[in-house]
Amino acid sequence: MKKMTVLAHDLMLPYLHEHAVCADFTMGNGYDTLFLAKHARRVYAFDIQKEAFVITKKKAKEAQLDNIIYCEGSHVRMSSYIKEELDAAIFNFGYLPHGSEQLTTTLLTTKEAVPQALRLLKRKGVLVLCVYIGHEEGRKESAWLDTYVAGLSYPYLKITSGSPASPYLYVIEKRV
Ligand code: SAM
Repeated sequence: MKKMTVLAHDLMLPYLHEHAVCADFTMGNGYDTLFLAKHARRVYAFDIQKEAFVITKKKAKEAQLDNIIYCEGSHVRMSSYIKEELDAAIFNFGYLPHGSEQLTTTLLTTKEAVPQALRLLKRKGVLVLCVYIGHEEGRKESAWLDTYVAGLSYPYLKITSGSPASPYLYVIEKRV
């Protein structure tokens, strides 16, 4: 089976085009940000760690991508940066690989940010959630997200690897 992160990109691809506006709400090492920047007009990229911006800006420069809008700070402040509708957006929850486990997404911020992201999404836009349950905060986020997504009136896919402790994906299409 493909890695969840690769699968997430495959599933976002049909929503991306030369005019698409996207957001990566957890930029980290820039893997998702660069993917979106290659396939869209503009990408808003959020993170709370300076290191993430240093790494991603370097990668973007090497790839000659200049369509990323860097938003330093928590994704709960998304609406003060994003004043247009989004075609596609992604959250890759958890902490920076090889970074501090303290600097993780939290239940508190996730509860605030995910509904905000759905509000910013345009009709027929897609929101992808990569959920990690290998740590305590991740298990709390996972429990809340499972209930929240199941209660939405939009169609969604839940993709798991079959192993209960492995990361899983939600792919939500906003239909009004
Ligand atoms: N998508 C990333 C990549 O391609 O490398 C991996 C993301 S990593 C699993 C999660 C990231 O979310 C970390 O870089 C962390 O600093 C960031 N983060 C945690 N809380 C955040 C918040 N409230 N707002 C924005 N970013 C946050």
